[in-house]
Amino acid sequence: MKQFFLALILFSATRVAFTQNKTENVVIVTLDGMRWQEVFGGADSAILKNIQYTKDSSGTSGNFWNDDAGERRKKLFPFLWNTIATYGKLYGNRWFDNKVNNANPYFFSYPGYNEIFTGYPDTAVNSNDKIWNKNTNVLEFINKHKGYESKVAVFSTWDVFPYILNTQRSKLFVNADVDTLKFKAPSLQLINDMQFLTAKPIGVRPDVFTYFAAREYMKAYQPKVLYIAFDETDDFAHAGEYDQYLKSAHAEDAMIADLWSYIQSSPKYKNKTTLIVTCDHGRGDKIKDNWRSHGTKIEDAGQIWIAAIGPDTAPIGEIKTAGLLYQMQLAATFAALLNLNFTATHPVATPIENIYKR
Ligand SMILES: [Zn+2]
Repeated sequence: MKQFFLALILFSATRVAFTQNKTENVVIVTLDGMRWQEVFGGADSAILKNIQYTKDSSGTSGNFWNDDAGERRKKLFPFLWNTIATYGKLYGNRWFDNKVNNANPYFFSYPGYNEIFTGYPDTAVNSNDKIWNKNTNVLEFINKHKGYESKVAVFSTWDVFPYILNTQRSKLFVNADVDTLKFKAPSLQLINDMQFLTAKPIGVRPDVFTYFAAREYMKAYQPKVLYIAFDETDDFAHAGEYDQYLKSAHAEDAMIADLWSYIQSSPKYKNKTTLIVTCDHGRGDKIKDNWRSHGTKIEDAGQIWIAAIGPDTAPIGEIKTAGLLYQMQLAATFAALLNLNFTATHPVATPIENIYKR
């Protein structure tokens, strides 16, 4: 028994040594309510050709249509399908039976973001209202860890994030909607002026301001963990504006490409940063107008996707084998990438080892 115990300790020690990740920084980006159907299949012809949803059908088709699905998805998400598909991994193509699911039963935003960041699909979290989240999130866990203090930052378009991440308790830096950007950097002062003067088609600041605020903050203050939460895709889908939904998705892909280009050009981040892109929930299929909606009553709305790229992620590209991952596994994954073990007073799902184990 003693020998067995010793062997176990040695095995554990060896295992830790071999699983040390190279990742020193984690960048997370979410596209709100972005369907896996477009991520893996590009623009959907049935919705694209319906002038009820796509007013400028020929213009939008010109931008995003190709008869070949592989080329079509590249047109919509060039960064995902040129860069991540070459150097990283993409999970959630259900046409290969590769599934990523919400574990929470609600399939809307607050429960989804709660699940991503707390690792706990708490059924008591069932509203999008501005309620201070009782659950501990992985960002505050990392932010309290030695060496990471004040090195975690969040920029979101939606103004509910301070509640989801409970800034009152967590003391995380969260800049949401048009929260004033009180920084000395001239670029951040300019973005601050612009965010108050821009039109707001979706009622909160456009995603491009959230992006630029995050990018310029990253350049000026070099956070180790950065989270950017985009919002437009969900709003345009609800509005039934498929052309705008595609345009926002395409623009967000370009912003992620721009961010990755900065990351790989900066000595602080280059080859030491893992980028994870995902979403909070799915949407319905093209039957009726279910693609516009999500929630418990919409079949398929709990189907999501994950993309990952970084020094610890094998360059496998699209995962074409059967599998099942859950959104709740992301919280522990973000910590594990940094060689940290996320724990809380509530249950936390196990990390997705496949993202960082070669
Ligand atoms: Zn929504």
